[in-house]
Amino acid sequence: MQLGEQEQAALKASIIQVGQRVARELGERPELAQALHVVGFLHAAVDKTVAQAALRGEKPACQPGCASCCHVRVEVSPVEALRLAACLQDWPAARRQDLLQGLQQRLARLENAGEPSPRLPCVFLQDSMCSIYPWRPANCRKAHSFSAEACQQGAEHIPQDLAITLAAEALQAGTAQGYRQAGLSMAPLELTRAMLWALEQPAAGVAWLAGEKITAP
Ligand code: SF4
Repeated sequence: MQLGEQEQAALKASIIQVGQRVARELGERPELAQALHVVGFLHAAVDKTVAQAALRGEKPACQPGCASCCHVRVEVSPVEALRLAACLQDWPAARRQDLLQGLQQRLARLENAGEPSPRLPCVFLQDSMCSIYPWRPANCRKAHSFSAEACQQGAEHIPQDLAITLAAEALQAGTAQGYRQAGLSMAPLELTRAMLWALEQPAAGVAWLAGEKITAP
């Protein structure tokens, strides 16, 4: 994707603007609860971008139950994984136990398969629907396609709306910048590994806040 000079400048300005807003919201030494709360702004802003774009132009082909994009590698930021782990505390213990088992099994399958990653269903996909829809990461929120067929065939090129993609990427990059300014890592992690880190390490959030290296499996 080749951007003109003006588009590049606009993208850069928007990243800086988002970064400053996020850094202001976080302050210098955010508490964990505040750090988890602020990433919700990113999710709301990406949702708004996708909704606005759908209103002004061609409607994406995405429909409930169409889950081709839930069979590919998904990356999340550490704060998204921690926020999701905090939300999952409300799940019954047995369901959380099943989830951990599913994550371990998926990780084993990923590791046995090597590269390139095979098309495995996301561990949160149930009956072709996302079981964590309100808390899904920004990369899932911005995913869209104008061709269900291209998605089903696993095509390399999925027709998308460039404006949605750019706006969402600016929001993600700006948000990452704001967190980094507060000394917090935003290095992307593969979803399965990120969730095992966030759910299995009791002090994952505290370690992340303290700037410790993330030891995802
Ligand atoms: S988190 Fe939800 S939307 Fe994202 S890949 Fe998994 S099932 Fe799909």
